[in-house]
Amino acid sequence: MSDRRRFMKLSVLGSAAFLAGKHVMASPQQEHKPVSVKGHPIVISTWDFGKAANEAAWEVLGKGGRALDAVERGVKVPEADPTNQSVGLGGRPDRDGFVTLDACIMDENYKCGAVAFLEHIVHPISVARLVMEKTPHVMLVGEGALQFALANGFKKENLLTEKSKAEWKEWLKESKYKPEANIENKHHQNVQGSKPGDAKNHDTIGMVALDTNGDMSGACTTSGMAYKIRGRVGDSPIIGAGLYVDNEVGAATSTGVGEEVIRIVGSHLVVELMRQGYKPEEACKKAVERIISRNPENAKIVQVGFLALSKNGTYGAYALQKGFSYAVKNGNESKIIDAPYFYDNEAK
Ligand code: ASP
Repeated sequence: MSDRRRFMKLSVLGSAAFLAGKHVMASPQQEHKPVSVKGHPIVISTWDFGKAANEAAWEVLGKGGRALDAVERGVKVPEADPTNQSVGLGGRPDRDGFVTLDACIMDENYKCGAVAFLEHIVHPISVARLVMEKTPHVMLVGEGALQFALANGFKKENLLTEKSKAEWKEWLKESKYKPEANIENKHHQNVQGSKPGDAKNHDTIGMVALDTNGDMSGACTTSGMAYKIRGRVGDSPIIGAGLYVDNEVGAATSTGVGEEVIRIVGSHLVVELMRQGYKPEEACKKAVERIISRNPENAKIVQVGFLALSKNGTYGAYALQKGFSYAVKNGNESKIIDAPYFYDNEAK
């Protein structure tokens, strides 16, 4: 709905209420309640590596399975991939050389679970799901999260690969913590000095899905910013920041410098904007603009990308910087799309 039409509709509602002698505000929810599309499942996820994750999610969604099972299955693919240096096994360590993982999951009933600063477990997303399903809590962190995982049969493993270890040792020589705008280079071969498959020093898989039944769920998992201060937690395990699912309206997830996303509670903001009638891409763009307005200097040099799916199956994304891509899979196709963006730092 255009701004003008939205304004007209609100004005009409307002006058009717006034004439009836009661002045009531029209709530955005009354204004916009998307109808769900049953029977047309779809899954979307961040970055080029989302494509393989979507294929795994489709093994569930394509058979009419639940979105929650699909997103868990999907994000386990990059979690288990030792060559993916920003999620799960093989993730880049913190500045002291420890791989620490953050993840969260949310279902169609507003249930959610999260783990943060978790070490030694290849699939933090499954621990997050257990927190959601087996405890009265939403989030477990650090030692407690590890203890909970081990008590529930997860195996303790070394997540630091030789490659990530060697890169960390190299980084130690200068020990400069400087987040760079991440670009998924496999899809952007024109990035100078990059090798296919390289990402910069951070990335996340955020995935949201709509199932045959018309229900939505999401999952988000990462090893966070490379060489972060020990104990640092980003947006990815924070419900509302890295992920939010509202089964009435839609779902959103984020990637990029988590501090910027937390400050505006990004994914929740995107979903609320969709509730007000913004389309997924417009809602993501508004959230990016909010980051710029809150922290204009930093916004020029860091990357943040939002990705959103509405209850009626439409999707979109928007990023601070050029270079954010996302993957889409439905009954007809599986593809990677370059997200629109605000700044083109590659052009400089
Ligand atoms: N959002 C993640 C974090 O801040 C990193 C990323 O997605 O690039 O930990």
